[in-house]
Amino acid sequence: MNGNPGFAQLPNRFSTAPLSGDGEASPGGGPCCKGSSEAEIRELARLPLDELKALARRTADAVHGNKVLLRGLIEVTNHCAMDCLYCGIRRSNPKAVRYRLSHEELAETIRAGRKAGFMTFVLQGGEDPALSGDGLLRLTETARAAAGPEAAITLSFGIKSRRQYEELKAAGADRYLMRFETAEAELHRYLRNGLTLDQRLKALEDIRAAGLQLGSGFMTGLPGETEDTLIKNIMLAQKLHMEMGGVGPFIPHPETPLRDAPGGDLERAVRATALLRLALPLCHIPATTAAGTIHPEGREQMLEAGANVLMPNITPVAHKKHYLLYPGKICIDESGFQCVGCLSVRVMGRGLKLSWDRGDALPIESLGRTTL
Ligand code: SAH
Ligand code: SF4
Repeated sequence: MNGNPGFAQLPNRFSTAPLSGDGEASPGGGPCCKGSSEAEIRELARLPLDELKALARRTADAVHGNKVLLRGLIEVTNHCAMDCLYCGIRRSNPKAVRYRLSHEELAETIRAGRKAGFMTFVLQGGEDPALSGDGLLRLTETARAAAGPEAAITLSFGIKSRRQYEELKAAGADRYLMRFETAEAELHRYLRNGLTLDQRLKALEDIRAAGLQLGSGFMTGLPGETEDTLIKNIMLAQKLHMEMGGVGPFIPHPETPLRDAPGGDLERAVRATALLRLALPLCHIPATTAAGTIHPEGREQMLEAGANVLMPNITPVAHKKHYLLYPGKICIDESGFQCVGCLSVRVMGRGLKLSWDRGDALPIESLGRTTL
């Protein structure tokens, strides 16, 4: 593998340049590792899949070791005022059975999660009108009280104002996840029913400015993508210096306008994961449920391609089956706590081991001590 352009030079690719208006840097700045350059990423993208995966996994091993961080995912609400064309819980799907967890249900789920060992809780939901204003703040306070001071709270509820992100941080949130979905501006506006990529990027900048650890990412195989879209997505991810990054194949939902679209295949999603790892060695990258949904070994393949996070779904079982962004979602009939045993076996088969660490954003020094 020596002589590979991205790999050999990874440790030296540090940047402390703040993001500026020329689009070259990241919101809020801060030290980071730039990873492979665009030319290198383009070259890497042409490698056979197995070779690319091996490079990415080696990079993950060097930076993150053989640990796979566990995060407990809680799907808090499937009410949504938005109408993204790809999403099964968009407001124009009258067939979606809507629910919202009560404060008690959320607190109980988090307390059970702490008992099981989780040190990060990811609260996700639609842009629920009931959670605008103070709603999400109160919920975050409840989550923080239930989680105690040691565990991390990640939120993922779409676009808010800078002030709201600041208030959420003050209420106890540590991190925020919001995928940019696609770096293709036209496609983004179409798929998000008029919302622009610039609006999404401005919100990501606000998240960073509010002092929250930043997560983003994209879908693969969206209708309207071109051959170059993957590279654009990777380069945007790198430009954002995101500290957590999720990639998932698009899966058409029958009650959406994209019901007849082909959907993303596993290879593209796995390639995207590997390239993301090589572009952003420090990034916490999940092996996503969407990958596990389109293929029984989808998550394992993402781990082999450098992913280092798994997110068991610990949403109360009664609600889980109604949070259907896409059809066929795995593990909806069992408690996420049972999933941990299954996942443990799955990762062991790959020489990896589950970790209950909080898994905060990694400082740049984490790269300094690696020998790639
Ligand atoms: N409302 C928030 C969070 C919930 S949606 C938001 O939109 O940011 C979480 C993620 O699910 C989205 O970012 C999108 O990437 C993914 N998603 C939605 N519909 C999907 C589909 N049909 N197939 C695969 N992933 C999908
Ligand atoms: Fe709402 Fe998020 Fe689905 Fe869009 S992707 S409709 S914002 S839940």
